[in-house]
Amino acid sequence: MTQVFRTVDLSPGLYVVATPIGNLRDISLRALDILASVETIFAEDTRQTKRLLDAYGIDAQLKPYHDHNGAQMRPLVMKYVADGKAVALVSDAGTPLISDPGYKLVRDIGEAGGTVIPIPGPSAAITALSAAGLPTDMFTFCGFLPPKSGQRQEKLKSFAGQKLTLVFYETGPRLLAALEDIVTVFGAATEIAVGRELTKKFEEIIRQSASAAVERLEENGPPKGEIVLMISLTGEEGAPASEADIDHYITDRLASLGAKGAASEAAREFKLPKRELYARAVALQARDRDD
Ligand code: SAM
Repeated sequence: MTQVFRTVDLSPGLYVVATPIGNLRDISLRALDILASVETIFAEDTRQTKRLLDAYGIDAQLKPYHDHNGAQMRPLVMKYVADGKAVALVSDAGTPLISDPGYKLVRDIGEAGGTVIPIPGPSAAITALSAAGLPTDMFTFCGFLPPKSGQRQEKLKSFAGQKLTLVFYETGPRLLAALEDIVTVFGAATEIAVGRELTKKFEEIIRQSASAAVERLEENGPPKGEIVLMISLTGEEGAPASEADIDHYITDRLASLGAKGAASEAAREFKLPKRELYARAVALQARDRDD
């Protein structure tokens, strides 16, 4: 194997190194240089990182750093840095700290006067955004959506009225339920995109309306693999409708559906209590009769 990395003299500090999200060749030459040159690599899963290092012929000392041992490991990592050593932090895939461990470590090292050096590379969120065809001028990365529908809807509602693209990490088995909640909270026409198995053999990036995505999953069953879910918000979804809008909507339906039917449809459309809208519909009907 031709050696593509070179060992380099590194100044002391914590090197936060991004690694591939699927395709092993998506690692940067600088990342390889750093991984080959640090004293120790702190890895979320040492076996996973060893596979990456083996692919490039890098023989490095690996120690675990993950959500369950972070508190015990932080003093050790900090001692390395305080002693003038260069060490690396990597996660299983993508950029550390992005829905991955490392936040407290990076803070603590900085507060102790140590240096933190980012070594940029892939992240599933940015990779998905770059090819989804949704607006990217303003986006918010939100990590994983809550698994329960009630909490998920609350989370989604907190973005109502904003004009931006939301980016979530999601799992195949939960995707359909998440899409159904998007339809409930933002409406059937909301444009979404799903990036699946990015940079891997079965990569797929699909952009469609939330309701079309629901239908697709209902037909095909839960998708396999890793998923990034994106939602394009125009700022109109979830905005409280004006009284004039509601009156207009009901009036349009009074002749064909009657007060009860028009109120039911309006209740669904505006997510308002049916009884309130029925009273409104009856008043509008009376007004129309008087006119
Ligand atoms: N730190 C990583 C990054 O920068 O993307 C993310 C880690 S997070 C624990 C893992 C989640 O990222 C997966 O459950 C999935 O939602 C998303 N993900 C990671 N790799 C992916 C890929 N190749 N395609 C689609 N989504 C991916």
